[in-house]
Amino acid sequence: MASPLKKVICYKLWVISLIIFLFLTHNSALITQYYSFAQSSRYVRVAIFQDVSSLRLKIKGSYEIIDSVSNKVLNRGKNLNTTVTVYTDGILLGNTRAKTNKLFIKPYYPESVIINGRIFRGDIQLIKNNMKLSVVNHIDLEDYVKGISVRETSHYWPIDSLEAEVIVFRTFALYKMQENSKKDFDLTSDVYSQVYSGRAAERYRINKAVDETKDLVLTYQGKIFPAFYHATCAGYTEDAALLWNIDIPPLKGVSCNFCQDSPHFKWHNVLSQEEVKDALVKGGLRIENIKDILIIGRDKSDRITDLKIVNDKKDMKISAKDFRNILGPNIIKSTNFQVRVIDHDIVFEGFGWGHGVGLCQWGAYFMAKQGYTYKQILEYYYPGAQVSLITNR
Ligand SMILES: [Zn+2]
Repeated sequence: MASPLKKVICYKLWVISLIIFLFLTHNSALITQYYSFAQSSRYVRVAIFQDVSSLRLKIKGSYEIIDSVSNKVLNRGKNLNTTVTVYTDGILLGNTRAKTNKLFIKPYYPESVIINGRIFRGDIQLIKNNMKLSVVNHIDLEDYVKGISVRETSHYWPIDSLEAEVIVFRTFALYKMQENSKKDFDLTSDVYSQVYSGRAAERYRINKAVDETKDLVLTYQGKIFPAFYHATCAGYTEDAALLWNIDIPPLKGVSCNFCQDSPHFKWHNVLSQEEVKDALVKGGLRIENIKDILIIGRDKSDRITDLKIVNDKKDMKISAKDFRNILGPNIIKSTNFQVRVIDHDIVFEGFGWGHGVGLCQWGAYFMAKQGYTYKQILEYYYPGAQVSLITNR
C-alpha cells in the first residue's frame, strides 16, 4: 500500500505533468491548422538603411565579420566602434579594407549591434551597391514582430486586439519573405512595408502578445496571404481586388460597426488650389488652375474609384488611389471623402484612415473591449481564413 506521503508526491507530480501538458499544447489545443514553412530560415531580412554614404557601427562584446560572398571569416574581435564607408573594390571598416560587396557582422548572442545610435537584435549585412551602402538586418521572425509593433499599434490596447495584430504582422512578414526570397531583403523598415525600429521599439505587453501567439499565422486554403491592415475603415473594409491584383475571400471586405468611436473615424483637411495643383503636376498630370474636382464613381464600400480634375487645360481623370498617394496618404487619409473647391481652397472631408483592406485596427480594439477573442477578431475581418501554426518540414 502506498504511504500518504507517496500519494501526495504522486498527486503533485500528476498536477505538474498536467500543467506542463496544458502549457505545451496551449496553441495546438486551440489551433488545428498547420502551415508547413518550406524555407530553411525563419530569419527576416529587413533593409534598415538604404543608399547611404557612411554609417557608425558599434558592438559591445564579441563579434565575427564574414565575407558573405566567399563565406570566409575575415575577423573575430571584441568591442567594435567604427565608421563604415565604401571604396572602389569593397567596404571600409575604419581603415580596414574588405575586398567584397557584401559583409556579415555577427555579434555573439546576446550582444546587439548599434547602427547610427539605433540598437538591433540579430545579424547585420552590409551591401555595397553603386558606391553606396545598404544595411539589412537578419532577424528572427518573432523578434522582428516585437520590433515593429509599437510603431504600428499602441501597447496599452486590450491583449486580444494586440494578439490579433501581431498575428497579422507576422503573416504579412512571412508573405514578403516568400515573395522576395530571391532579393537582397524581404521588407523595408518604413511605412511601405511595416515600420520597424529594432530593440528600442519593444514594449512589455506587445512582447507578451508575440510570445503568446508564437508561430501563429493566417492562412487561406493552406497558403499564406498578404494580411493587409489599416487604422480605421469607417464602416466597410475594402475589397483588395479593387486596389491590387488580389482576389481572395478573406480580402473581399466586410461591414464594420466597431470603429465608430475611433479618433480617425472622420477627418478634414484644407489645401490651397496651388498646393493641390503643384502636387498633381509633380505626380505627372498635365493641369493648370484647378476649377473643380468631380467624383466620378464610388465602390460598394463608398470609397471613391475615380476623380475628374476640371482645370484650364483638358479635364484629367485620375484614380482615387493615385490621387491619395500623390497628395500624401496622411493628408488624404482615405479615399472615402467629399471634396469642394471654395475660392482658393480645396476642402476635403472624409471617413477612416488607410487603404481599408483587411484588419480594421480600431475595430479590433473595440471588439477586444467587448470581449471578442483574437481568433474571433481575425475570423471577422478575414472571412474564410484560418489561424495556423507554422511547422518546419
Ligand atoms: Zn472599422
